[in-house]
Formats: sequence, C-alpha cells, structure tokens
Amino acid sequence: ACASERSQTPAGDTGASAGATGAAKGFPADSLIGVALPSKTSENWVLAGGLFTDGLKEAGFKSDVQYAGSSTTVADQQAQISAMVTKGAKVIVIGATDAAQLSTQVEAAKAAGATVIAYDRLIKNTDAVDYYIAYDNFKVGQLQGQALLDGMKAKKADGPYTIELFSGSSDDNNSAVFFDGAMDVLKPKIDDGSVVVGSGQTDVKQTATDGWKAENAQRRMDSLLTSTYSSKTLDGVLSPNDTLARAIITSVKGAGKDLPVVTGQDSEVESVKSIVAGEQYSTINKDTRELVKQTIQMAKDLQAGKAPQVNDTKSYDNGVKVVPSYLLEPLIVTKENVVEAYANDPKLAPLTK
Ligand code: BGC
Repeated sequence: ACASERSQTPAGDTGASAGATGAAKGFPADSLIGVALPSKTSENWVLAGGLFTDGLKEAGFKSDVQYAGSSTTVADQQAQISAMVTKGAKVIVIGATDAAQLSTQVEAAKAAGATVIAYDRLIKNTDAVDYYIAYDNFKVGQLQGQALLDGMKAKKADGPYTIELFSGSSDDNNSAVFFDGAMDVLKPKIDDGSVVVGSGQTDVKQTATDGWKAENAQRRMDSLLTSTYSSKTLDGVLSPNDTLARAIITSVKGAGKDLPVVTGQDSEVESVKSIVAGEQYSTINKDTRELVKQTIQMAKDLQAGKAPQVNDTKSYDNGVKVVPSYLLEPLIVTKENVVEAYANDPKLAPLTK
C-alpha cells in the first residue's frame, strides 16, 4: 500500500531524470518559497530560520519564513501553511510541530500545485508530502546509545551499569526514531543484564518529554532521583538532545549526586561548553548549515524542472506512503573529537580551544 511512484529514484542517483510529480514543469526563478518551522525548542531551529531567509534570497527566491508560537503551536503552523498556499508558494518546507496534524494544509498545498518538503521531521498520514530531508534519525539514536555505553565503560570498566532513558516529544515523529535507534544498541545489553534501567521505565511513552521542554525533563529526573536513586548509583542517562541533557544535569547537580554519563544532540553552545568542561558526555553534530543548503538545492532543482536528489526510498513510511528522502550523516561528538568536529564552524570552534 505504501508503493509510491515517486520513490523510484535509486540511492545516489542525481535525480536528473524526471520522476517526481510537480518537478517536471519548473516555475519562475523569483517564486515564493514558504518555510514553516516549529517553535524554537532548540538552537537548530533558531539557526535554520536565519539560514533559510538568507539562503533563499541569495538563490533569487522570495521567501516567507515562519515559526509556530510557543503555546498554540499546531494552530499557528496550520494557519501559516495555509497563508503560504494563498500567497502562491511553489515549494513549502515544513518542520512539523505535530507530525499528524497537517494533512489538511499540505493537501491544500498540493492541490494548489506546490511541492511539499518535510524538513527534519516527517509529516504523517498523508500522501501530500513529496520529499523528506533530514539527518539520519535512526543513526542519531544508534550513536547516542553507543556513546552512552562507551562513556560508562570509560568511567568504570565493569558493569552492570544502571541507566535511565529519556525520549523526545511524542508529537514529533523523530522522537520514536531516535529512541528506536538507541534501543537497537541498548536493548541487547538490557536483555543480557549488563545494563539495567533503574526505574524499569523502558517504554517510549513512559520516557517521553512533552514539547521537548527542559522543565519536563528536569521534573522527571528529579522524581526518578527521589524514587530510585537515594542509595543506588546512576551511571548513565540517555538524553535525546542537548536542551534535555542540560536539564538532566541540572537536576542531578541539584540533588547533590555524582554526574552520570549523559548523551545529547544538536551541538548547542552551552552543551559544547559542557562537553569541553567534562560534564555532558556527548552530543551530535547535525550541521544546520548543510541541511538548509541541501533543502534550498531541492527548491532550485524543482524550480529548474528537475527531480531533487534523494538517497533513501525505504526508511520513512508515513503511514500512507514511503516518502522519498535525502538523509545526511550525523556525527557523534565527545571531548575526544570536539576540536576536529567543529573545526569548520566559526561559532563553535572557538569554544573548543
Ligand atoms: C530535532 C532535534 C531537536 C528536537 C527538539 C527534533 O525534531 O531533530 O534536533 O533537538 O527536534 O527541538
């Protein structure tokens, strides 16, 4: 049922041959490109907005870059997408606030002749999403799971290790994918007893962090410390991103406990500093500059009447179709490789010296 006529481009194909609907005709070079981003739950989103505004202008397009507000996020984003359709946007790039609540808007966009690109987060339950572009989310999770094991082993040669698991917001499709990637690495260790989840909370629902909000992670960590770690040692915490990692570290410090190994993601300034200082153990480098650049390249290809490049036509089934995807490689960063990892990033490089 998920067979898609648009997912036939083989991995590595430049996409020069026509394939995607909407790509064949092209559109005027100064057309409007809409970009609907979620609320600014982490630094990557803040960076993306500025990069899209500048990059689309440089490419000769008109742009309309919007963020969902912080409380009525879903309704805001729905209205913003509808407005982009009304204004005649030829491509609409969407970082979904809620994966499952945009079908009406993206279907209207398609009906109006726009191409819909899901950016960083997949849009679910509709055939009106043409492309998906993101860093490989499952790989991000695997790298986090492996970093957690490596970090704990480096501190204490022999297990068993006691850990806690955190996942992201359940309305974000990425959250389960990150978690599944991490569990792909951790589950065999949990099953053989070399890793123990102290609280027994191993389900993506029990571990979710609503809205990706720091205060929610901090509150859950506070209560785990009280319920489970008054006498036990906590060796590691799987955190899906940097904002939550720092909230977890704050909670542990507040309880006066030794810091466990804590993973992260996004290469946020404060987390890179924390890694250099030896507190947070790891983050993931998903260079936003590269993701935005590749997304703008997709818009340029569509403008020229070419099918954008995709390199994965299997992984992202949104419930209705497998969305042709362009996946970039994430990089794990610890104190070990922090200097090389950010050598070409003018904002982060100085923090590693
Ligand atoms: C992004 C992460 C980010 C999270 C919270 C996810 O969809 O992929 O990089 O940490 O949203 O903003």
